Amino acid sequence: MGIVDEDVARVRDATDFVAVASQFAQLKRVGTRWVGLCPFHGEKTPSLSINADQKLFYCFGCQAKGDVITFVRDVEHLDFVGAVEWLAAKAGITIRYTESAQGEGRRERARLVEAMEAAVEWYHQRLLTAPDAGPARRYLRDRGFDGDIVRRYRLGWAPDEWDALARALRLPDAVGEPTGLVRVRRGRQVDFFRRRILFPIFDVQGAPVSFGGRVLPGGDPPKYLNTAETKLYTKSKVLYGLNWSKDEVVRADEVILCEGYTDVIGFASAGLPRAVAPCGTALTEDHVRLLRRFASKVVLAFDPDAAGRTAAERFYAWERAHEIEVRVADLPAGQDPGELARTDPEALRRAVVDAQPFLGFRIERVLAAADLSAPEGRARAAESAMALIAEHPSELVRDQYVMQVADRCRVDADRLRSGAAGRGGPSKPSHRTHPHRGGAAPAAPERRRSRPRESKEVLALRLAVDAVAGPAIVPLLHEVLFRDPLHGAALRALLESGGDLRAALDGADPEAAELLQRLAVEEPTGDPRDLRRALLRDAANRCCEELRREAVAAGDAQGYVPAITWLKAQIEAISPDARPSQAVEDQLLAWLADRAEEKG
Ligand code: ZN
Repeated sequence: MGIVDEDVARVRDATDFVAVASQFAQLKRVGTRWVGLCPFHGEKTPSLSINADQKLFYCFGCQAKGDVITFVRDVEHLDFVGAVEWLAAKAGITIRYTESAQGEGRRERARLVEAMEAAVEWYHQRLLTAPDAGPARRYLRDRGFDGDIVRRYRLGWAPDEWDALARALRLPDAVGEPTGLVRVRRGRQVDFFRRRILFPIFDVQGAPVSFGGRVLPGGDPPKYLNTAETKLYTKSKVLYGLNWSKDEVVRADEVILCEGYTDVIGFASAGLPRAVAPCGTALTEDHVRLLRRFASKVVLAFDPDAAGRTAAERFYAWERAHEIEVRVADLPAGQDPGELARTDPEALRRAVVDAQPFLGFRIERVLAAADLSAPEGRARAAESAMALIAEHPSELVRDQYVMQVADRCRVDADRLRSGAAGRGGPSKPSHRTHPHRGGAAPAAPERRRSRPRESKEVLALRLAVDAVAGPAIVPLLHEVLFRDPLHGAALRALLESGGDLRAALDGADPEAAELLQRLAVEEPTGDPRDLRRALLRDAANRCCEELRREAVAAGDAQGYVPAITWLKAQIEAISPDARPSQAVEDQLLAWLADRAEEKG
């Protein structure tokens, strides 16, 4: 299935790119463009730029680029059709489909989701009504999961039978196996889940993609069993609960990250419906990237160090790389949020409100473990704390903690600062060249802001792709004005499309398209008439040189004199101080164009 071209264009036209992109990045208006932190790579300095008129974006850090449809496709992990549908739904536009082979992947996904949906419902009904689900119902009730919760989260029960689901749903093998719901053994379908309470897991859009299955006490290990990865489900990219919590997460600009399904549900019951959890896996950078699209603050509702030192450092690196603020909720020892939600919901809410910044939490732990009664202990603690502080990217933040540590360890703050500087912190020049960041991302925005020594050709092209300036300048330009072949190709694409940037991007070769796309998100500067005249002068001067060389080569200096003399007069006539009529310029351009054409 594809979508009728006309409808794609209608959706694009009706869409406010800035409003859409603002859901995923905070945008700031700079001139006629909008800039913000790129949702496609981690960064601290905005590299994403959007041209709202042309509905195009470009990232100077990771070179992500495209139009509003590409943006939604990539940011929501959809395909083209899905992205258009997503935008159409927002714009209230009904779209029409065409039949085509490329829709096969889409149809398959729809079949798998439909099967998952049927399974969710079947398991759910089984939990609600089947006699054999009695122990599961009791177990859930004892843990505070009443009927409302069971229905809201669509919890299910997989009975202790080999093929109860397979017999009930009668899915073809080609659907049942790829969902991970059943496995085919000697030609027979066998259920994947048996004798487990099931937590259906949904993607951000709310489509069921997998299950987490919890064993009842006394059942066979493991305690939790998850659907294997399937076409629908990549565990490093799905967070349990995000489909329910995303609106609240965006509203609060904060997401609570916990370890399990029951914790997510516990937080919601305690009045904090903005928790998510990874599904049977450690948190990954993909998860962080996903979360960053919804909020800039993350509250960890588990001890980051219980998962080991590397886990903590990874968080810290992500905090830096993705510019998120990570706080840690100090939960009473030995209590998970799911339990606390039931026994003392107020304590759970307080732990979230009082969450400490990640750096503060770590420093506090170092200090708490140290012997601050002895000078040696205080010095060692100060040194360890400074090592943590040096990793923080903000000088202001570093300084706040330096003062705090100095105070607690009774050390002079200036001494701490100079000591840290001697070890390579706190300015930490190594951040800039951190190997996995490539060093390229931070440099790019600088380049964009200062734009040193830009050629007139680039300035003219930037005006040419602008929605406002373009229609005025494009008809005045000609390839002969551009010395750089890439610039020439970019202009040719624009001229051939009658100045329609979208058509030009489709028609241009990839390199020229990339250039046009990038220029479109940059603020145009310069006066079109002056630029055209300057380009014309340069082109005429180049032509003069050529004529001279030809004259030498032909050994006929005399024969070239009239042409060279005429050209020099024209160049004089369009000098910056002269006030030439456009007719003079047009005539010169036509002459240069004719000559270029004759030469082929
Ligand atoms: Zn980027």
